[in-house]
Amino acid sequence: MGKWASIQHDDTHCADGGNHRGARAVRPDTWQVLLGIGLLLTATYVALPYGLLASSLYVLGTASAALAVGIAVLRRPRPFGATAWGLIATALTLAAIGHGIWYWLDLQGLEPFPSAADIFYLSVYPLFAIALWQLGSQTARDDGAFVDALIVGISAAVLGWALLIAPYTYDPDLTWLQLLVSTGYPVADLVLLPLVLRLVFLQRTGITAHSFLLLGMLAYLTADLLYAHGNSTGWYTAGGLTDAFWLIAYSLIMAAAWHPSAKIEPRAHTSHAELSGRRLLVLGAASVLVPMVILFTAGSEMEIIRVAAIASILLFLLVLYRMAGLLRETQHQAKRLENLSRTDPLTGAGNRRHLEEQLTREIARAERTQGPLNLAFLDIDHFKRFNDSHGHAAGDALLQEMVDAWRPILRPTDLLARFGGEEFVVVFPHIDAQQARRVLERLRTAMPNGQTCSAGIASFHPGDTMDSLLGRADQALYAAKDGGRDRIMIAPAEPIPVAGRPAL
Ligand code: GH3
Ligand code: MG
Ligand code: MG
Repeated sequence: MGKWASIQHDDTHCADGGNHRGARAVRPDTWQVLLGIGLLLTATYVALPYGLLASSLYVLGTASAALAVGIAVLRRPRPFGATAWGLIATALTLAAIGHGIWYWLDLQGLEPFPSAADIFYLSVYPLFAIALWQLGSQTARDDGAFVDALIVGISAAVLGWALLIAPYTYDPDLTWLQLLVSTGYPVADLVLLPLVLRLVFLQRTGITAHSFLLLGMLAYLTADLLYAHGNSTGWYTAGGLTDAFWLIAYSLIMAAAWHPSAKIEPRAHTSHAELSGRRLLVLGAASVLVPMVILFTAGSEMEIIRVAAIASILLFLLVLYRMAGLLRETQHQAKRLENLSRTDPLTGAGNRRHLEEQLTREIARAERTQGPLNLAFLDIDHFKRFNDSHGHAAGDALLQEMVDAWRPILRPTDLLARFGGEEFVVVFPHIDAQQARRVLERLRTAMPNGQTCSAGIASFHPGDTMDSLLGRADQALYAAKDGGRDRIMIAPAEPIPVAGRPAL
C-alpha cells in the first residue's frame, strides 16, 4: 500500500526509566558512583603488591558489592525480579566469605586449594543459576531462546572440556578431591553459560540493568576460565589480572542492581520463534565449533575422523545457508501478510483496522505534543445512481480510479483509509484545517468520470477520542451533503453532541 501505510509515529519509549537528565546533569547517579568505585578498587588491587592490604581490599570490595545489591533489593521501589536479585546478593556474600578464607590460607602459607573456600565458591553457582533462570522466565516468553542457548552452551562445553577439563583428568599428581574441585568450576561455568546466553538471547527489551548483569556474569565466567586454565598449566598467581575480572564482575552486577532500569518490567513479546540473521550466525558458529575441536584434537593417524570433521563443518555451513534462505522467505511472507491485513483489497487504500491503529497513535501524539491533527470524511455523491446506471463493476472501477487519482495528491504522512462502501477517511497529521481543506479541494477536483464527492473536516481538540473526532467529521459531511453536495465543510470548533450513525 506504499505511502498510505507510512504514517510516522514518534512513540519513543524510554526503557531506562527516564534516566535522561539533559544538559544540567552534574550529579552522577548512584549506579555510576558504585561502578566507578568498583573499577577504581579493581585497578588499585592490581597495582598493589600482593599481600594483606591487597587481599583485604579484595574481600572488602566483594562484601561491599554484596551489601550494595542487598540494599538495592530492600529499597522501594524494588527492582524487577527482587527474589533473583536477593539470590545474587547472597551469592556475592558467599563469594566474599570464600575470598576471605582463600586469602587467609594463602597468606598463612597454607594450601588454599582445595579448601573450605571452595565450598563457598561452589555454592555461588547454583544461586546464580536460579537467579538467571528466574530473571529470564519473568522477562518474556522463552521464544526458543533456551534451545539456542543450549546449542551454544553445548559446543562451548565441548571446547571447555577439551581445553580445561581434559588436562586435569590426565594429571596423575592430583588427588581425587583436587580433581573433583578443579573440574567442578569449569563444569559449573558450563552450566551457567547457557543460562547467561538465554538471557542474552531474550534481550530484546534493551534494559540497561540486564546488560550490565550479563556483562558481569560474562566477566565472572571469564575469570573462572582463566583461573582454571592458569591453575592447570601453572601460570596463575594471586593478585593479577585474573582476579581483576572477578572484581569487575562484582562492580558490574552492583551497578546493574542500582541502575534505574532494574525496576522496569520488561514488555512481553507477542512474536514467537524470532530468529534473526545474527542469531543464526551465532548458532552456525556454535555448531561448527564441535567438529573444529575434533579436527584439531584428532591425531594424524585418525584420517577418517578428520575427514568426517571437515565434512561436518561443510554440512553445517550448507544447512545454515539453507536455513538463512528459509528465514528470508518467512520474513518476506510475514511482511506481505501484515501489509495485506491492513489494506483494502479493492482499492489498495488502508482498511478500517489500519485506520484505527494509526488514528489511535496520531491522537496520542497530538495529545502529547499539542500539535495539529485533522481528519476528513469523504463520500461519493449519488454513487447509488452511478451504480444503477453504469453497473456495479463500473462502480468498483470508479473507486479504484479515484484512489489512484488521489494517491499522488497526498503526502507520505497522510493516511487514506476506506471506511466502508464508498466512504473514505483521510488523516492529516501536522497541518491545520485550512491546509487540509486545500488538499481536499484537490482531491475533490481529481474525481474521475465526472463524478463528485463531499467531505467534512474535523480538527482534533485535547480530550477528543477517535469516536468524537470521526463523529464531528461525519456531521460536517452531512452538512456538505445537505448544502448541495460537491463541497467541503469544516466542523465547528466546539464539539457538538454526536448524532446520527455511530462512528468506529
Ligand atoms: P449520497 O452519498 O450523495 O447521499 O448518495 P449515495 O447514492 O452515494 O448514497 P450512499 O452514500 O448512501 O450510497 C451508498 C452506495 O454506494 C450504495 C452502493 O450502491 C454503493 N456502494 C457501496 N460500496 C460499494 C462498492 O464496493 N462497490 C460499488 N460498486 N458500489 C458500492
Ligand atoms: Mg455513503
Ligand atoms: Mg455517497
